[in-house]
Amino acid sequence: MIGPRRIPAVPFGVARHPARRLSPSHLALALGLAGAGVVAASGLAGLVVGGHPPAAVGREVFANVAGPVRAVFYTVTAVTVAAVGALFARRVRNWERGGAERRDTSRATAGRRLRRFWLGVSMGTVAEDRAAGVMHSLLYFPFLVLFAVTVVLEVDHQLPERFKFLTGDVYRGYSLVGDVAGVAFLAGVLWAIARRWGRPPFRLRTKTRPEDAAVLGTFLAVGVSGHLAEAMRIALDGRPAFERWSVVGYPLSSLFDGLGEGALANVHQATWTAHVVAFLAFLVLLPETKLRHMVTSPLNLYLSPRDRPRGAMRPMPDLATTDLERFGAGVVEDLTWKQLLDTDACTVCGRCTEVCPAQMTGKPLDPREIVLKVGQVMAESAAGTSGPVAPIVGHEPELTVRAPDLFARITPEELWACTSCRACDEVCPVDIEILDKILDMRRYLTLMESEFPAELGRSFRSLENSGNPWGMSQSDRGSWTDALPEGVPVVDGSSPLDHEYLYWVGCAGSFDDRNKKVTVATATLMHRAGLDFAILGPRERCTGDPARRSGNEYLFQMLAGENVETLNGLGVRKVVTQCPHCFNTLANEYPQLGGHYEVVHHSQLLSELISSGRLDVGGARLDERVTYHDACFLGRHNGVYEAPRRVLGSLKGIEIVEMGRSRADGLCCGAGGARFWMEEHTGKKIGVERAEEAVATGARRVATACPFCAVMIDDGVKETGRDDVVVQDIAVHLLEAMDRESGRGAEVARP
Ligand code: SF4
Ligand code: SF4
Repeated sequence: MIGPRRIPAVPFGVARHPARRLSPSHLALALGLAGAGVVAASGLAGLVVGGHPPAAVGREVFANVAGPVRAVFYTVTAVTVAAVGALFARRVRNWERGGAERRDTSRATAGRRLRRFWLGVSMGTVAEDRAAGVMHSLLYFPFLVLFAVTVVLEVDHQLPERFKFLTGDVYRGYSLVGDVAGVAFLAGVLWAIARRWGRPPFRLRTKTRPEDAAVLGTFLAVGVSGHLAEAMRIALDGRPAFERWSVVGYPLSSLFDGLGEGALANVHQATWTAHVVAFLAFLVLLPETKLRHMVTSPLNLYLSPRDRPRGAMRPMPDLATTDLERFGAGVVEDLTWKQLLDTDACTVCGRCTEVCPAQMTGKPLDPREIVLKVGQVMAESAAGTSGPVAPIVGHEPELTVRAPDLFARITPEELWACTSCRACDEVCPVDIEILDKILDMRRYLTLMESEFPAELGRSFRSLENSGNPWGMSQSDRGSWTDALPEGVPVVDGSSPLDHEYLYWVGCAGSFDDRNKKVTVATATLMHRAGLDFAILGPRERCTGDPARRSGNEYLFQMLAGENVETLNGLGVRKVVTQCPHCFNTLANEYPQLGGHYEVVHHSQLLSELISSGRLDVGGARLDERVTYHDACFLGRHNGVYEAPRRVLGSLKGIEIVEMGRSRADGLCCGAGGARFWMEEHTGKKIGVERAEEAVATGARRVATACPFCAVMIDDGVKETGRDDVVVQDIAVHLLEAMDRESGRGAEVARP
C-alpha cells in the first residue's frame, strides 16, 4: 500500500502556466454570456419588430403564446445559456489544474488539427464502428438541422415584414426539412434506447447509468413534444393545405379534429411548454453529463496532433541535473492540462476496453476505467480549486474521493498489466491518450515510490550492471558472428564509421539463442545484397526501452545517453535493426537526447533490397500457408504494416492468410511495456490468446518481425500443442526459401 501523495509545487518536466489575464475558462464563460446576450437581444427585438400578421403561406411565431410567457421564455433561456457557460468554465478551470503542454496551432499543425476536428464533427471516427456510427449520425446530424431550423425561424421572426423569407415555397421546403430531420432524430433516439437497453454489447452494458436514461429521455421528449406542438399549431390554424409539407405535423394534426378551439389552444400551450422545458433540460445536461462530449470530443480531436511521434513517450528533463523533486503522475496536478481535458472528452463507449489484451485475458486493467478514474479524481477533488464538477459518469457514492491522489482509485496492479500495445489509443474515437497516462503513473511508482514488480528489479540491476536485461557479459554481444563465414566488421570507435549502415542488433538478437538465428539470417541477407554494414559489438548497450516503459527514466537516460554518445561520436547516420523496440527508441526517442539517425527496420530494408533487385529472390519458394503477426511497436507505434508482408509476398508458392485481428487491429503478443520481463500471474496468457488465433488460420508457419513476439507466440503455440506450427522471423523464412531452392541450406527447424 502506498502512502498519501504530496501535492506537487510543480509538475514533472514542465513549468506551470504563467498567470494569464484571459484563460480558456474565461473564454468559456464569455461564450456563455455572449450566447445569453444574443438570446436576450432576440427577445427584445421581437418586442420591437414582431407582431406582424403571418403571410398567406407561412406561420405565426409564438401564436397562442401570451406576451408574458414569451418574456419568461427568453429570460429563462438566456439565464440557462449563461449557466451552461459557467458550468463549462468550471470544467475548463479544472483542466487548468494540469501542467503546461504545447498544443499550439501553427502553420505546420493547422491542417492536421482541422482534419482531426472535421473527423470529429462529421462522425468520421465514430463511424469506424458501423452500428454506433449510424446511430450517432441519426442523432447528431438531425439535431444540428433542427437547431438550425429553430434559429432560422427566430431570425425570420425578428425581420421586418418586407425582409421575411419564410413564405411560399421557401416555407414549404423549410417545413419539409424540419419534419424529416425530426423523424430521423426520433429514429436515432429509439435506436439508441434499443441498443443500450435491448441487447447491448458488453462494453455498454457495464457502464449504463441513470444519466443515460436522463439524456435519452430528454432527447425523446424534445423530439415527441416538437412534433406534437407543431401538429397542435397546424390544427389551431385550421389545417391549411400548404401545411401538408409538414409531413409529420399535418397528418398528426388530423387526430385532433374533434377538439374544440379552447381545448386545442390549451393542448398546444402544454406541448409547446413541454418542448421548451425539454430543450432547457438538454442545455443543463450538456455540461453536467457525459453528453458534454458533444463539445469536448471535437475539441480533443482538434488538439490531438502533437509534436512528438506516436511511439515516443513524453520527454523528461535530464534527471542527473534537474532541480525538480517530483516525477511522473501521482496526483491530478502532475498530469498536463491536455491529459485532464482528455478525460472529459470520453464518450464511455468502451471500444478501448474491447481491444485491450490485458482486459480480454482477465487482467485487472481496463483502459476505460483508467480514463474514468482519472476523471473522477479530477472532478471530485476540484472543490478546493475550481469548484465541484460532476464526474465523467455517475459512480458509486462509496467510492467518492476528496484528495487529488490518482492512486486513491487506480491500483499499481492495473498499471503494471499494460503491455503498452497502444490498441486503446488507436481505437479511441476521440483520440484520448490513455497509454501516456499509464506510463506517467508508472514513472511515479518507479521513480518516487520504488514500487514495481520484483522481477523488474532484477532486470533493472542487469541493465545497470551489464548493459542488457539478460545480465550477460557485454563481451559476448558479437559472438553470433562466429556462425558467419564472412564475419561482420565490428566498430571499435577509434575512427568514424566508414560503413553505410550500422546494424543495431539489440539485446535479444545478441544474447537469446533463438533470436541469434534471426540476426545471422539478417546479416547473411545483407551480405548477399552487397550491403556495407558494421556492428558495435560490445559497445552496443540496451536502448533503454524496457527501463523507460517500466517508468525507470533514470536508467533509460543512463543507457540512452551512452548509446547516443557512441553513435554521435562515430558519426552514424543510417541504422538498421530487427527489433521494433530498438527501432522505435532509436528513431523516435533518441532525438529527445540529441541522437538523430535515419533508422530502418529490417523488414523495410529487406523489402527495399528485394524491390530494387539487390537481393535476388527470383528462385525463392515457400509452398506453405503463412500468417504474419504485427508487432505493436512496428505497426501501431510506427505505421509499418506492409513492408513485412511485401517480403513474404515476394516468395513463390506462399499463401499468406491474415488473422482476424491484424494491422492496426492486431493483437499484442504480451511482451511490450517491459511485460516480457514480468511474470504473467493473472488470467490467460496473452501470447496463448494470440497463438490460438494464429493457429486457427490453418497456417503452418507464423511469421514475426520482432524478437519478443517470436518468443511469446512460439511459447503460446507450444501451449496449444501444435508442434507442427513453426514460428519464425521473416528474415529466417526468406533465407530458408532462397536456400532451399538453391540447395544451399537446410529447412529452418523449429527453434
Ligand atoms: S496500451 Fe494496450 S495493454 Fe495498455 S491499456 Fe492500452 S490496450 Fe491495454
Ligand atoms: S477512452 Fe476513448 S475508446 Fe475508451 S471509452 Fe473513452 S471514448 Fe471510448
